[in-house]
Amino acid sequence: MRIERLFAGFDGAGMRDAGRSQTKTAIGLHVCPGCGSRLVQPTCWEQTADRTHWRVWRRCPNCEWSCEGVHGEREIDDFDEQLDLGTHELADELKALEHENMERMADAFATALRSDLITAEDFRYQL
Ligand SMILES: [Zn+2]
Repeated sequence: MRIERLFAGFDGAGMRDAGRSQTKTAIGLHVCPGCGSRLVQPTCWEQTADRTHWRVWRRCPNCEWSCEGVHGEREIDDFDEQLDLGTHELADELKALEHENMERMADAFATALRSDLITAEDFRYQL
């Protein structure tokens, strides 16, 4: 459902230009025209000679689609913003996983203590 919303108004222009494009992208540069993944990442980039555009090589980690294209500042700024959002989403997800893991470890430790499975002997210094 989320992907369907992303492709509302998508006319397939990105698919025709998948190999190499200098056209405006109907969808964000972070969206894979091959599989719809929102995890497309830049692998390399350089400013064009006229310094008004950027040549960007992108890759989809989901289906291995890749592309080289020239994009204007606005597209690049949007891409950069999406990459930042993705970074924050990953960091939030990592924090949630760490929290969940710590809760499980604390529960397991509490259960072991209640069941007398942990004694002072478990903390004895060993040479
Ligand atoms: Zn893909």
